[in-house]
Amino acid sequence: MRQRVKMENRKRNKNGNQNKSMTVLKSVYGYFLPSAWKRYKGYFFVMAAKVMTVAVQPFIGIIFTPKIIAELLGNRDSGVLIRYVVCLVILEYVFGLLNSVFPNIVERYTAKYNNYYTAVISRKVMELDFQLTEDKKALDQLELAKNGMGGYSGGLNGIVEPLFSMVSSVLMLVGVIMIVVPQAPFLIPVLAVLVAVSYKFNKKINEIERKNYTKLSGTDRIFGYFTWELMDFRYGKDIRLYNAENMMMGKWNYFLEDYFKTWNGMVHKMIPLRIFNDFTINVLRDVITYFYLGFLAITGRITIPTMTQLVTAAATFYQSITGIMDNFQNIVKRANYANEFVKFIAYPDAIHKGDRAVRGEEHTITFQDVTFTYPGADTPVLKGINLTVSAGTHLSVVGLNGAGKTTFIKLLCRLYDPDEGEILMDGINIKEYDYSQYMSVFAPVFQDFKLFSFSAIENLLLMEEAGEEEEMAAAGVMRWVGIYDKFASLKNGLDTILFKYFDDDGIEPSGGEQQKLAIARALYKNAPIVILDEPTAALDPVAEYEIYCQFEEMVRGKTAIYISHRLSSCQFCDKIAVFSDGSVAEYGTHDELVNKQGGIYAEMFAAQAQYYV
Ligand code: ADP
Repeated sequence: MRQRVKMENRKRNKNGNQNKSMTVLKSVYGYFLPSAWKRYKGYFFVMAAKVMTVAVQPFIGIIFTPKIIAELLGNRDSGVLIRYVVCLVILEYVFGLLNSVFPNIVERYTAKYNNYYTAVISRKVMELDFQLTEDKKALDQLELAKNGMGGYSGGLNGIVEPLFSMVSSVLMLVGVIMIVVPQAPFLIPVLAVLVAVSYKFNKKINEIERKNYTKLSGTDRIFGYFTWELMDFRYGKDIRLYNAENMMMGKWNYFLEDYFKTWNGMVHKMIPLRIFNDFTINVLRDVITYFYLGFLAITGRITIPTMTQLVTAAATFYQSITGIMDNFQNIVKRANYANEFVKFIAYPDAIHKGDRAVRGEEHTITFQDVTFTYPGADTPVLKGINLTVSAGTHLSVVGLNGAGKTTFIKLLCRLYDPDEGEILMDGINIKEYDYSQYMSVFAPVFQDFKLFSFSAIENLLLMEEAGEEEEMAAAGVMRWVGIYDKFASLKNGLDTILFKYFDDDGIEPSGGEQQKLAIARALYKNAPIVILDEPTAALDPVAEYEIYCQFEEMVRGKTAIYISHRLSSCQFCDKIAVFSDGSVAEYGTHDELVNKQGGIYAEMFAAQAQYYV
């Protein structure tokens, strides 16, 4: 009874695995074949030609060698012999040549496809919902996708090539069976049993390798951080001044050991299986073939030329049938790796995206009882926020570090969605708007803004091809924020590349210059709502004051939200919201709040005023 239950469970598991494999195959080939065909059709024609040459080539020897031997043992007609040999040599040469040309062409396509699919994954990373960029599951999936499309699956060619090879092997197999079966009927079944045993072992080896790969993806990412990220010069100052290199190397070694432990575990399990598979089975195959065919020859059932033909045919049979098995396993194995890429490309959105069009240039924003907790955190960062920012209002958001000011902006920009409550734009929940149209409403400058290693002006334009008009406008904005002269005085002017990653003439802008560029980028976007989240922290108070004055002038008529620790910026604003511990503790004009007895704003202002008076 127990035995039966066990067997039924095993059968159920097997069926489940088969269904899973079919789903994976469908998803991988359903994605890659059409996309690869659409991209480069030539690859498929080359592969089809390769299938034919690979399938036909073994038969040149199988057909001509016994003819030559028969002629040598029989008539010894030199004319006939020369004809056979010339045919054999020419055909071998032509097919050999073709088979050595194809890999070179395929290699070129492989490189092209690698670039193409790298671009596909890069685009997906850039378009991924922001909150997923901090989500461990999504990051692990990205790592699995990158590895899966790299060495593990062999890229597009690694996935598609076994399909074509399979066709070659099947054609070869059919030809060989037609030659062998009439003359040595038992050879095929016996060799087939050996192939089946070998298949079982290979399957086990592949399974061990696949499990190991999944286990390593997490370690790979951490490892990547230590090996590549921390080598970035941006960390250079902190590492040197805080003497952090020993700690880094210690951590690196720790993960290296972890990495090797997993690898060693895999290798120990695989070695005995590999030895048995590669060595013992091959010896058995040769022994059986030679004994059986030798026996047929000695007993006069086949001639010597036929025996030589069958020996080669038997080897080709073995080669084609193991080819089919290997290709099948490769298809399943590589599809499993490549499926990680497909899963990442289809990674579901973390936030709902509507399709309502955004209309007009003036927008009123309302936070209604908004509560938000960061994914994975226990306590809410924002609690029951109620706040309205009418069109054209200039709002200053102040509060101590960690009060939730930046989080408020992130929710407004839909980098995250609230857990409770609603954010409305013009009375409609922001989730209902078309995502990219909604994004176009905001021009934020975050504390941790990033400039790209492109030219200064490209950092503002952020478009593939900009016309003269756009360039003039961008230069005008740079002038307004006071960064134009800095670049105009350089050899390459506004085309000077930022940072030195690619260009020796690139410059390292100072913190303040970077902030001015980031502000210029936001102003150039010319969006209806402009947000400055403490981007002026690296500027001196005078420069900050100047920027705010110019900024105010440029954003006149637009909605502006400022987050700043320097309360001097508040005097520009119509309203001030004081955040404290995730809530709006005070709300009003500067004059209202500064005179409020025991108020947070009044206290903060008094504390700062003594430095500015
Ligand atoms: P403020 O801008 O007022 O200084 P933030 O909105 O940046 O405050 O942060 C509010 C709180 O949320 C802080 O305690 C901070 O540690 C936490 N926090 C910020 N970003 C994240 C995040 N990505 N994941 C988890 N907690 C976060």
